Amino acid sequence: MKGASHGGAPFPVNRYMDKLPITDLDIAGKTILVRADLNVPLNLENPPDEVVTDDTRIRASIPTIEHIVQARGKVVLMSHLGRPGGTRDDAYSLKPVAEKLSVLLEREVTFLPDTIGPDTQAKIASAAPGSVILLENTRFYPQETANDDEFARQLAANGDIFVNDAFGTAHRAHASTVGITAHVEQSAMGFLLAREVDYLSKVLHDSKPPFVAILGGAKVSDKIGLIENLLDRTDKILIGGAMSYTFLKAQGKEVGLSRVEDDKLAVALDLLQRSGGKIELPTDHVTADEFAADAAHHIDTDSIDIHGMGLDIGPATRQAYSRVIMDARTIVWNGPMGVFEMPAFAHGTIAIAEALASATRQGALTVVGGGDSVAAISQAELDDDVSHVSTGGGAMLEYLEGKVLPGIAALSDRKTL
Ligand code: AMP
Repeated sequence: MKGASHGGAPFPVNRYMDKLPITDLDIAGKTILVRADLNVPLNLENPPDEVVTDDTRIRASIPTIEHIVQARGKVVLMSHLGRPGGTRDDAYSLKPVAEKLSVLLEREVTFLPDTIGPDTQAKIASAAPGSVILLENTRFYPQETANDDEFARQLAANGDIFVNDAFGTAHRAHASTVGITAHVEQSAMGFLLAREVDYLSKVLHDSKPPFVAILGGAKVSDKIGLIENLLDRTDKILIGGAMSYTFLKAQGKEVGLSRVEDDKLAVALDLLQRSGGKIELPTDHVTADEFAADAAHHIDTDSIDIHGMGLDIGPATRQAYSRVIMDARTIVWNGPMGVFEMPAFAHGTIAIAEALASATRQGALTVVGGGDSVAAISQAELDDDVSHVSTGGGAMLEYLEGKVLPGIAALSDRKTL
């Protein structure tokens, strides 16, 4: 495989490297407003200590919180949880998250039942330096997602300095991510945000060849911008999942009952033609008669039986893709290779996760993102065996598409201070 041009622009390695890092802040005695991503899955039926069913995002926020506590600042955490639709709804309260955070931090976390207002401000003012406070769900207010300036001003009135550590919402201009920055003197990057940007910028702007992207999942339409931006940066783009059938059909192959976006056939063909052979498609498939976990299934090579639907990449594709991955030095993966939620159709996705882990052991830089790929890699218990698992699905895609992320762009510049 020959090295690609790797994006043309040699610099900036990191478009956001001029942003103020949390380590440059003077924290002692100040109240630091931290926008975290504590949007974790809850099951309110569970016993109290098991209400949070996956605490990954809470754990990921800890380095920033600990840093502020150690520096004798007050931490005021803001986050959204789910989509309460701009009204107060106890099913989306962050209270159980405060309890979980307290256990993980091994220190008291004060939960405040509101997000803004004089009562909230008074309680924050009376807390001691080094305390950790979590405000109620920012999305109980419709002004949050509307990026309302007055709401942003009230959020800012809760503290002195703003730190954004929520990569998962960095692609959204909301009051607690963007609006607030207009009402504080300093807005900095937290450790989690900095780590995400660091890895993704290495992938996009400083990749070592061969650079391989593995893209899967349900829809081509979600990934067109990404493929466009990766075409001249990568050496190979390996496609799997349902989106591969749109490409195969565009090439004139029989795909049977497989999931296809017929309105994207022309775009898919155009991408294939412009890719100069960089885009690789599956050559065999695990196909079934119906979309069911216990469906009878078999391997179809090349074209798919008219009554069959492709639900996973086949064994020859698994091998071929794994070989390409093992030879690569930079790898980014977004989207499963098949219906990995059903064990019979998870082999392709697991094989990719294993190949990524092996490539990482050989020194490759490997970055995985997108809810389903992250779920798949943790299902395979390989999440610690890759360089970086991104906490942002949509934000990672938009970053890799080359778009500006408003939640990062709005932060203070290091050089102006
Ligand atoms: P995405 O949200 O785009 O990453 O897509 C993930 C979803 O695509 C998962 O729920 C997979 O089950 C589904 N998926 C992957 N491959 C296929 C396939 N061949 N047919 C139908 N669904 C698929």
